[in-house]
Amino acid sequence: MSDCLFCKIIAGEIPSNKVYEDDVCYAFYDIDPQAPVHFLVIPKAHISSVSAVTEENCAAVGHIFRVIAELTQKLHLDSYRVVSNIGEQAGQSVRHLHFHVLSGRDMTWPPG
Ligand code: 5GP
Ligand code: ZN
Repeated sequence: MSDCLFCKIIAGEIPSNKVYEDDVCYAFYDIDPQAPVHFLVIPKAHISSVSAVTEENCAAVGHIFRVIAELTQKLHLDSYRVVSNIGEQAGQSVRHLHFHVLSGRDMTWPPG
């Protein structure tokens, strides 16, 4: 999607600090970290949010969770939080599906 910030990051048109990449997904550190470790994992295909996950595109979501499991093991993160905001009221600011991976500090519940 040409006017999507995360599609531009995937295409390399906007620089990012890459954590991991394969054919299906891209992981990079958040520009405004909310924890000592904070990266995002996104599908390379443009999906606007969890609300737009379908039978046709859901394999990417399973793949992303496998990548999160592998990356967090590799980074020795044994406690972390995975968050996806959907819609404005929940705090979604970029309309390209993304999973925040946050770690390295105590987390509160419920989230604010
Ligand atoms: P959301 O608010 O939609 O749940 O999450 C979007 C995230 O993208 C935010 O945590 C924000 O800091 C991050 N972000 C926004 N623009 C950029 C950017 O240009 N580069 C990087 N690395 N992260 C960004
Ligand atoms: Zn996009």
